[in-house]
Amino acid sequence: MFVFKSAAALAQHLRQIRTSVAQPIGFAPTMGALHNGHLRLIESAKHHGCYVVCSIYVNPTQFNNMEDFARYPITIEADMEKLAAAGCDVLFLPDNKEMYGAEVRAEVYDYGSITANYEGALRPGHFDGVITIVGKLFNMVNPDYVFFGQKDLQQCMVIRNLIKAAFPGIQMELVPTVREADGLAMSSRNVRLSETERQTALSLSAALFAVKQMITNGESVRQALASATAQYLQHPLLKLEYLDVVQSDTMTPVDKVLPGTSCAVIIACWCASVRLIDNVLLTD
Ligand code: AMP
Repeated sequence: MFVFKSAAALAQHLRQIRTSVAQPIGFAPTMGALHNGHLRLIESAKHHGCYVVCSIYVNPTQFNNMEDFARYPITIEADMEKLAAAGCDVLFLPDNKEMYGAEVRAEVYDYGSITANYEGALRPGHFDGVITIVGKLFNMVNPDYVFFGQKDLQQCMVIRNLIKAAFPGIQMELVPTVREADGLAMSSRNVRLSETERQTALSLSAALFAVKQMITNGESVRQALASATAQYLQHPLLKLEYLDVVQSDTMTPVDKVLPGTSCAVIIACWCASVRLIDNVLLTD
C-alpha cells in the first residue's frame, strides 16, 4: 500500500495509475480509528473493480464540539495494517496545512432541508465542514467512484447533493451499515463507551428496529415512534435528541410511509458522554 501525505505526490501517483492500470479509481474518505464498517467500504470499492484510495483525516471544521474533536480516537498504525490487509492500494494521510493551508476554515453551504434538519440543526457548522473537506478531497483524488456508509445517512444525502452540484462525473455508492453481532452500529466513538454504557447503547438499534417492525405491522408512524421511545429510550444514561421517520432524499419528517418513496427511521442519542447516531431504511 502506498502512503502519501501530500496532495501533489498523490496526484502524480494517480496520474501514473490512470495511464497504466485499466481500473476506475474508487475513494473512501474516513477519519480513521478504523473498524469493519470502514473496511466494508474498501471491500465494496474492490468489488467494483476499483483501484482503491482511502483517506484518513480528522477534519477539525466538522466538529461543532471541541471536546469531541480532542477526544477523537487516533490509531494510525493499526489503521494502516487493516487497510493493507483489506487490499487498499493507497492511503492519503494529509495534515491540516495540506488540506487548508494557513487558515483552517469551512465554506458555508445551504442545501435546504438536507443541511438544515436533524444533524444540521443540532451540530451547527458540521455539514459546512463536511462539504468543504469532501470537496477538497474529491478535487485531490479525482475519483470515478466514491463509497460512503449509510450509517451516516444524512451525510450521504449531503454528499449526493455536492456531487450533483459540483462533481457530476463521480458515481456514489452507499454501503449498508455494519453492526456488531448484538445490533450496535459500528462507530469509531464506540470505544469511548464503558461496558455498562455499551449495553445501554443497544437501545438505539433496538428502538429503530422496533419502529420499523411496528410500521410494517400497520401501526401509524407517530404511534410507533412514541411506543419505541417509551419502551427503549427512557434509561437515565440516555438523552434522546431525535427519533424520527424521514424521507431519505430530503431528510424531512413523514407521517406516512408511501410506497415508492425511500424512507428511514433515524436516531441521535447521547449515551453518557458519547453522542451516537444510527438509522434503518424502511423501504429497502
Ligand atoms: P468516519 O470515519 O466516521 O468519518 O466514517 C467514514 C466513512 O465510513 C463514512 O462514509 C461512514 O458513513 C462510514 N461508516 C462509519 N461507520 C460505518 C458502519 N458501521 N457501517 C458502514 N459504514 C460506516
